[in-house]
Amino acid sequence: MRRFYIATEEEIKKGETTDVYFERTRKILEAKGLDKIKVIAEITSGKLPRNWEWGVLCGIEEEIKLLEGYPVNVYSMPEGVIFRPQSYNGVKIPVLYIEGPYGSFAHLETAILGLICQASGVATAAARVKLAANFKPVYAFGIRRMHPAIAPMLDRAAYIGGFDGVSGVLGAKLMGIKPVGTMPHALIILFKDQIKAWKAFDEIMPPEIPRIALVDTFYDEKIEAVMAAEALKEKLFAVRLDTPGSRRGDFAEIIREVRWELDLRGYNHVKIFVSGGLNEEKVKILSEAGADAFGVGTNVSNAPTIDFAMDIVEVEGKPIAKRGKMAGRKQVWRCNNCLIDIVLPINKPKPKCPKCNKEMTEMLKPVIINGKIVTKLPTATEIRNYVLNQLKIIAKTREQI
Ligand SMILES: [Zn+2]
Repeated sequence: MRRFYIATEEEIKKGETTDVYFERTRKILEAKGLDKIKVIAEITSGKLPRNWEWGVLCGIEEEIKLLEGYPVNVYSMPEGVIFRPQSYNGVKIPVLYIEGPYGSFAHLETAILGLICQASGVATAAARVKLAANFKPVYAFGIRRMHPAIAPMLDRAAYIGGFDGVSGVLGAKLMGIKPVGTMPHALIILFKDQIKAWKAFDEIMPPEIPRIALVDTFYDEKIEAVMAAEALKEKLFAVRLDTPGSRRGDFAEIIREVRWELDLRGYNHVKIFVSGGLNEEKVKILSEAGADAFGVGTNVSNAPTIDFAMDIVEVEGKPIAKRGKMAGRKQVWRCNNCLIDIVLPINKPKPKCPKCNKEMTEMLKPVIINGKIVTKLPTATEIRNYVLNQLKIIAKTREQI
């Protein structure tokens, strides 16, 4: 008996979340003695959703943990790499490939794809919001819209994508960071008085937790913002506007008014934090209107998946692929200055960047050899820093255009 409709870690690891046709294929191959045939299967993505030009690869750590112990070699691009579906020379970019007897991992394909398709979608949506916010602080508030079983995965993907923190307690704990949150309307409703609620928060919460007053419960935001500033004075770190859609009108204008009224009274130190139904476009507009930080929920936690697919490209050392796929083992070469990738057959020499002529670095590196992990797994914070460094290059390139 289980309480929730979720797979256990063991079931996932054994491949029990597979689509049935892989199981059947394995059975047939075993019966005919073909299951030990060595293949190379690579993972590439199709067109990205929402017309995204690039994606953030996420879920590689879990992929490695899934494949550990199986008789395979795995080569992968680093988690957090910003990739395009196609390389500069027009070849689909393999983000990962597996080498080994097909029968040993056929039943894992469903899980292999599922681990990176959703996480990469979330990380990409987060990275785009971070860019739209022009690198101002952004926090993940979206786990309430999704099944709680995957809350830590969603929080990790949002954080890796460049978010500054997550609201989920377990997600934050597994990443070794502190969860982030302000106060819900429930707190103010139970006190039936904003000022009493804000003061109680200040009284009870330890000093390291920033005082962020929710200022849209009973009155107009600019009135409540001033009330909060007068109540908590220099201790007030920020006001949060989570204005309901029915009252929102021109939200950017509301933010400008709040800023004006706070500044007029000398509360220039009080930041403006906005949340509620935000997406990339809204974050950009509200950031330009003066919002300092953002809580983004469903738009990121429910991000479209990136449709990765796995295909065999080599059998017993010989290149072979289905229509629409390029055969053979490949290497992805990157220019770290231009973020340009070139895909070449594995035996071709290292190319030079077609744009800046600099040396290119190989991106597909061994992560598992004979079932053993042969790479150091970076922390979520290290992966996030890698993403942010690439986002800065993208932001710079956009400015030049
Ligand atoms: Zn270059």
